[in-house]
Amino acid sequence: MYKKKSLPKIITLVAAVAMGVNSTYAQDDDDDSIRELVSRLDLESYKAVIKGLAQFGDRRQGTERNRRAVDWIEEQLQAAGCTNTERIHYVFDPEPRPPRQRSSQSDEIVDLTTSTGGKVGRNGSGPGGSSIYGYRAQTGVNRDLMAQPDERIRELNREEPVNGPRTEVYCTKIGTTRPDEMYILGAHMDGHGVNEAVNDDASGTALVMELARIFNSPDVDTEVSIRFALWNNEETGLNGSYAYVEQRKDLQGIENPPGSGKYPEPRWLGMIQHDMMLWDHGAPRADGTVSRDQRPEADVNIEFQSNSDLAEESMLLAFMFKASADKYNTDYPATVGPHMTNTDSTPFMNEVPSISLRENERGMHTGAGWNPTWHTPLDVWTTFTDEDFRLGLNAAQTTLSAIAELAGTKIK
Ligand SMILES: [Zn+2]
Repeated sequence: MYKKKSLPKIITLVAAVAMGVNSTYAQDDDDDSIRELVSRLDLESYKAVIKGLAQFGDRRQGTERNRRAVDWIEEQLQAAGCTNTERIHYVFDPEPRPPRQRSSQSDEIVDLTTSTGGKVGRNGSGPGGSSIYGYRAQTGVNRDLMAQPDERIRELNREEPVNGPRTEVYCTKIGTTRPDEMYILGAHMDGHGVNEAVNDDASGTALVMELARIFNSPDVDTEVSIRFALWNNEETGLNGSYAYVEQRKDLQGIENPPGSGKYPEPRWLGMIQHDMMLWDHGAPRADGTVSRDQRPEADVNIEFQSNSDLAEESMLLAFMFKASADKYNTDYPATVGPHMTNTDSTPFMNEVPSISLRENERGMHTGAGWNPTWHTPLDVWTTFTDEDFRLGLNAAQTTLSAIAELAGTKIK
């Protein structure tokens, strides 16, 4: 159901950014400040964080490797200057599901040069006559340990998950003049597929951790608060981000203790999710295989959800991000689409303007088999080249510059 909301602030910002002039918050030197912040992003530093996450294998929820990864992320955030880390606690204890029929694909060692199972459709063959065009290769989760050809990675991922208590970590840059309002930047730290979960989603997790580092540099001030959240249990149904919304939605904007100037849950201004940032190699070919190379038209896909209560506000936020990408991305452009889905921004989308940044459109491209590393043994460090990592870095440039603008950022 469509609801009309008033949008003066964000319209001003979008219009200002789209026209290339300074925003409401901007001073003359703002562009220079943002450019300086963007220059603090670095490919090798971004890759190093991804590699750090890869040491915990697929970080599958409910395992020791997942718990150790949460601890490691918290240590890294603190070392980077985002010292006020906190944890969300929740229990993941779903009803057991009836055993599923195994697809023939899940038994195979997947290789880019082999067909992805022989089921390649074409033109409108998507479910329900969806907007999937071109060839469509099969996708599916691989949980077969022996499908991972690398013995070291196989050993990392041997433990099976057990239901029970879970945690996830976040930290916050506190705003100087509006500490009671914030943007939330998120990515999920859990993965699966007997791999190193490099693309899905160390690539987004490292992006958020790098932004936490840059925004928490001693010489950086923001007027508005920014929260850096690394969700757990995304892969089981967004359970970590749902737990956050459930536990904290009603605490927004409350000063606690009264008179302290402290706001444990600043009022939400926007939620920006990062999930799968590296791989834009184009559509599958007629035989279901996908190119090993980043396609020349590779881009950052910014999506909002046209069916959400806040579709209009979210769309404006998405276009504001695109304008920022046009200005600050060094290698790849950004595009906007209306089908944000299947990631941790969904629990937020009826509460606050919400968007996701990805390598591809989740519904159309990923669903049509554009990414053979998705939830398969191929999502490992050695699969990706610097061209891939650079796409993730460009998404980081987009979010860093857009949020620096929206949060009113100054270098002291
Ligand atoms: Zn993901």
